[in-house]
Amino acid sequence: MTNCFILLAAGKGKRFKSNNPKQFTNYINKPLFMHSVDKAIKSKLFKSIIIVSNIPIKSIKDRSIKVIKGGRERYQSSQKALNFIKNKRFKNVFIHDAARPNFSIKLLKKLNSSLKKNKAVVPYIKTNNSTKYKIKNKIKNLNRANLILTQTPQCFDFKTLFNLCKLNNTKITDEATLFLDNNKKIKFIKGEENNFKITTKSDLNKINIKNFYGIGFDIHKLIKNKKLYLGGIKIPFHSGLQGHSDGDVIIHAIIDGLLGAMRKKDIGTLYPSNKRRFKNIRSRNMLFPILKRLDEDGYFINNFDINLICERPKVSKYREKIITSLSNLLNVNKDQINLKGKTVEKLGLIGKEEAIACEVIVSLNHYA
Ligand code: ZN
Repeated sequence: MTNCFILLAAGKGKRFKSNNPKQFTNYINKPLFMHSVDKAIKSKLFKSIIIVSNIPIKSIKDRSIKVIKGGRERYQSSQKALNFIKNKRFKNVFIHDAARPNFSIKLLKKLNSSLKKNKAVVPYIKTNNSTKYKIKNKIKNLNRANLILTQTPQCFDFKTLFNLCKLNNTKITDEATLFLDNNKKIKFIKGEENNFKITTKSDLNKINIKNFYGIGFDIHKLIKNKKLYLGGIKIPFHSGLQGHSDGDVIIHAIIDGLLGAMRKKDIGTLYPSNKRRFKNIRSRNMLFPILKRLDEDGYFINNFDINLICERPKVSKYREKIITSLSNLLNVNKDQINLKGKTVEKLGLIGKEEAIACEVIVSLNHYA
């Protein structure tokens, strides 16, 4: 993997009319530029991410992310970033404007696979507007059918782009311009309507956010000579949970909750218990394909509320550990997870420490 993702976040955004540049404004639960960063990370396509910013960013801890200072104009910022990575042996580079936070990971993957056969791949959309252009005092019509609007991320063979950029000292609005001006071929692929540029404050509300909720429930019998797994970690206990996997009721209930919110049936349909290949599977591994689907389909996790129903082990003793484990597995912050322990007054199988149950409610955002 030798891709680098360059995020241009050094713009002043005059039309945004705010003291805080728009790239840093809060947008759907986080700073606007972080949407692009998080998607680049989640896509797993990039060895390194460079953020070009004229404001220091302290919150970044990930070592594969570097923040460098930008130039006065966009093209100078991208030149600086390309210079910064010139000796780092990247085969490809993706350049993206931080003001477009709503592209999908699917689009990143499509760009990446088109780049295997091309030196430049650029997403575009068509327009429904009738379009004109002005030369001096004359306004002329443009044929809408021939018109394409280009977006970012745009991706390139690093060497080719670097050499074109080095020679350029005119103001350009994207790197595709350099390829066109130098008669170099670009592969244009279909972009996304949602991938619009946030320019004014009203653009922040342009996208339609929908909320979805899912509920999950699971119960397993406790048996001797089996290890107990809860929330992805081993908990010392006299018995473990029976099942053809490790019996992790918390993860199973979370999976059902997520599938419910995504309206994708249930865990049993996805992992039939009569299939030998799922025998003894660690539940955490059952979670990953679902999280991948979640990202690709444009869902974002808001929060989980979890009830673990058992007489013992004492939830308060392991709460912190379980939440830490879940936050790592689910790639969410700890404060997005709540875990409650519920005993059953020694009633029934659960009361006799012969079973453990779990119920979960999950809330997701989807924007379209
Ligand atoms: Zn289960």
